[in-house]
Amino acid sequence: MNKSDSHLELLSKILIEESNSGFQNRAVIGGLDKFLLRWSPEISPVIGKIPNYASLSADQRKIWIQSIQTFLPNKPLNSKNIKSSYNRGGFNNRSRNTNPTLKNKIILPTLKSKIIDLPGVGRTTAEKFDKLGIKTIIDLLYTVPRRHNDFGNRKPISELISGEEQTIIGSVWECRKTKLHRNQKRQSTQAIIGDKTGSIRAIWYNNEYVSRSLPVGTTVVLSGKVNLYRKKFVFQSPEFEAFDERVEQIHTNRLVPVYNSTEHLPQRTIRRTIKIALDSCLPMITESLPIRFLSTTSMPSLKKSIEQIHYPDNINSFLSARNRLAYEELLRLQLSLISRKESWQKINTGIPMSTQYEAMSVFEQSLPFELTKAQKDVIGEINSDLRQKKPMSRLLQGDVGSGKTVIATYSLIIAALNGYQGVLMAPTEILAEQHYMSISSMLSSLSKSKFEEQTISLDQKSFPYKINIGLLTGSMTKKSKTNIHEKISNGSFNIVIGTQALLEEIVEIPQLALIVVDEQHRFGITQRSKLVNKGQRPHMLAMSATPIPRTLALTLYGDLDISSINELPPGRKEIETIIVHPDTLNSSYEFIRKQIKEGKQAFVVCPLIDESETIDTNSAIEEFNNLSNKIFPEFNVGLIHGRMSLKEKEAIMADFKANTTQIIVATSVIEVGIDVPNATTIMITGAERFGLSQLHQLRGRVGRGSDQSYCLVTTHSNSEEAISRIKIFQEHSDGFDLAEEDLRIRGPGDLIEGIRQSGLPLLKIAKVSDQEILKSARKDAELLLSEKSYSSNFYETEIKPFLESIPKLNSQTNFN
Ligand code: ADP
Ligand code: MG
Repeated sequence: MNKSDSHLELLSKILIEESNSGFQNRAVIGGLDKFLLRWSPEISPVIGKIPNYASLSADQRKIWIQSIQTFLPNKPLNSKNIKSSYNRGGFNNRSRNTNPTLKNKIILPTLKSKIIDLPGVGRTTAEKFDKLGIKTIIDLLYTVPRRHNDFGNRKPISELISGEEQTIIGSVWECRKTKLHRNQKRQSTQAIIGDKTGSIRAIWYNNEYVSRSLPVGTTVVLSGKVNLYRKKFVFQSPEFEAFDERVEQIHTNRLVPVYNSTEHLPQRTIRRTIKIALDSCLPMITESLPIRFLSTTSMPSLKKSIEQIHYPDNINSFLSARNRLAYEELLRLQLSLISRKESWQKINTGIPMSTQYEAMSVFEQSLPFELTKAQKDVIGEINSDLRQKKPMSRLLQGDVGSGKTVIATYSLIIAALNGYQGVLMAPTEILAEQHYMSISSMLSSLSKSKFEEQTISLDQKSFPYKINIGLLTGSMTKKSKTNIHEKISNGSFNIVIGTQALLEEIVEIPQLALIVVDEQHRFGITQRSKLVNKGQRPHMLAMSATPIPRTLALTLYGDLDISSINELPPGRKEIETIIVHPDTLNSSYEFIRKQIKEGKQAFVVCPLIDESETIDTNSAIEEFNNLSNKIFPEFNVGLIHGRMSLKEKEAIMADFKANTTQIIVATSVIEVGIDVPNATTIMITGAERFGLSQLHQLRGRVGRGSDQSYCLVTTHSNSEEAISRIKIFQEHSDGFDLAEEDLRIRGPGDLIEGIRQSGLPLLKIAKVSDQEILKSARKDAELLLSEKSYSSNFYETEIKPFLESIPKLNSQTNFN
C-alpha cells in the first residue's frame, strides 16, 4: 500500500463515520477540514479539488461525499444511507450507479449552473427541462408549483376515513401485477400495506414501474385519497415513496408540490430534480431586495421564500413566500417601466407646442355640445404635456361613449396649428373612416360628397384655420395610396387618420409631432413604437375604453401617465340590457320595429362563429336576407362586414348615419368606436361567443344620445359559465365595474389578452389579481426612483444591480 492509498483508506473510514452521524462534521475532532488540509497533497490528485467542508450544508456534504466515493476503497455511503428521496422508486438503486454525473473533480453547482451539473440528474432529464426553457438551477428554483397536495394528514390505517386525502406509513405485505378485468389489456399493480393497526389495499392502473418499486417487506409512505370500494377502503393511485426516518419525503407525508408536468417529464422527476436543486443550492441564495423593504415589512427572506414555495411548512407560509416573490417580480417590472419612461423622456427633447388658446376656444364654441368637466380636465392635462420639452406619453381611459374622439381631435388640431402633423391610428378601417368623417365634420360644414378623395380642405367659415385632413387605409387602391403618401410626406396633410397601413415603411411623416392611438389595447407596444419612431420625438396619446382596473393599467402601462374620463356626457340614460330567449326572437323583432317607427335605428350583430371572417360574413349575409326579406320588408336594412371594400362600407355607414337605412346587420367589425347616436337598439345574437369586454364595447354602440337605449342579447348556450357571464353583463353597465366583477368572478380571463398583446414580459409568479401587491410595488418603485435625486449614483449603485441580479423575469406565464 502506498502513501496515498493509506490516506484514502483513512479518508473513507472517516467519511463512513461522518455519514453515519448525519454529516455533522464530527468525525474528526476539530472538524474535517484539518484532516483534509493536512493530507490534501496525497488525496487531492485522486479525489480532485477539496472544498471547505465546514462551510457546506449537510446536503452539500452528502453530495460531495457521494461524488468522490468511487475513488475510495470503502464506500462511505452504502445503499442504506443514500436511499434518499432522490431515488426514483426508492428501492431499486442497489445495482445502479448512484452518481450518473460523476466527474473526476468535484464542482459544486452554482445557481447559474446547468441542470446537468446537479448530482444525480442525468442528461435525458436535463434535456427535457431544457426543452421547456428551464435551463439553469435558478430556473428550476423559480419553477413555481401549480398547487400543493395536502398530504400532511398522517393516520394509522385503522383511522382512515373515506373521501379524504390522507397519509399512512406501513410495510408492503404483498405486491403483484394484476389484470382487473379479463379483457383489460394493460396491467395494474395491487399492493397490501399494513401497519400495527390494520391493512389496506392500494391500486395503481397502467403503471408498470410501481410494482418494481415496492418490494415486499419494505416500509413505504402512501398519500392520497381513500375510497370505499365494495365496502372496503382502497387507496387509488396514491403517491408512494420509500420511508426512511432520516430522509425527507418529497412525494408524500407533507404539503407536496404539484408542478405542470408533461408526458415526457413526469411529476416525480420534476419534484426530485427540484428537491436536489434546493438541497444543493438553496444556501447560495442571497437576498435580492433592498434591505430597507425587508425590515419594514414582514416579508420572508428570498431564501426562505424559495424553499417555502416548493415545500412549505404550512399553507400560510406558502402564501407569504408566494406574495413576497410576486412583490419582487412586480417591483422589478415597475422599476424598469418607470425608469424606461424617465430615460426616454430625458434623452429625447420633445417638441414643445403652444396651446393655441384663441383657435381652440373657437373650436370649442363650434361644437354642438358643451365639453364635460372630465373632458376639460383631460384637455388641461394634455395641454400642459404638449407645452413641455419632453414628449407626452399618456394613456386616456374612458368608458365607451364617454367622448374621447373630441379630445383626440382637439390635440390633433393643436399639432396642426403649431405647424406640425398629427396622426390618429385606429384598429379597423371602418373606425378610421368614421373618425375621418366625424373629425372632418367637426371642423367644417362641407357635405360628405366632398370627402371622396380622402382629403379635405376645410370650410373657412366654421373653423377659420387651414387644416387638411387625409385618410389612409389598407384597402385603398394603390393609386390613391400613392397619392396620399405623397401628400403626407410633402406636408400637405396636417392631420392624417388611418389604420395599421400608417405603419408601413414607405409612409413618411416628416413633421410628425403627435400620435393618437385609438382603442390602444388593440395594438401592441411594438406597433405603438413603430409609429413613434416615424417622428423625431412625437407626443403620444393612447386612448382606450377597455375597462381595465387602474391598478392593472399600471402593470400594463407603467410607462404611461394616465388620464381618465370618469363621467359620461349629460343626459345619457343607462342602457337597458335584456336577455331574450331564442324561442321568443319574434318579440325582439317587434321591439325593434316599434323603435324604428319612433324614428330610431338598430344594429343586429351576428355571432362570431370562428376566427374565419368568411364564415362570420356568411352568417351575417344569411341574417341580412332573413331580416330584409322576411322580418322587416318595410324598412331598409343594410349589411356590413369586413370583406367589403372601403367604398361599400363608406356608403353603407353614410346611409345609416343619414337614417336612409334603419337597420344594420353586422359582424363584429362594428365592435369598436362606431358612433351613430340615433341608433337606440343593438341586438347581439350568440352572446356566449363574445368576451365580456367585447360585449360591453358592442353595447356601447347605442346609448350615445339622450334617448333610452336597449341591448338585446340572445344565446343558445346552456353552459352555466356562459349564462352567468351574460347575467353579469346585464347587471353592470359601467365598464370598470364590469371589469372588476369579471376579475373577481373569473380571474384575469379576458384581460390576459391585453397583456399578451402589450408585448410586456409575462409574469411568472404574480397574477393579474394581485392588486394590493401591485399597488405597494408601484409605490415602492416610485419611492426608490425618487431617491435618485438625493444621490446621483443611487440608480447605479442600488437599483441597477437589483434589476440585473438574478432572478430575471422569465417569459413563462403563470396565469392560472
Ligand atoms: P368614445 O369615448 O367611445 O370614443 P365618442 O368620442 O365616440 O366616444 O363619443 C360618443 C358620442 O358622444 C359622440 O356622438 C359624441 O359626439 C358625443 N359627445 C362627446 N362629448 C360630448 C359631450 N360633452 N356632450 C354631449 N355629447 C358628447
Ligand atoms: Mg372611440
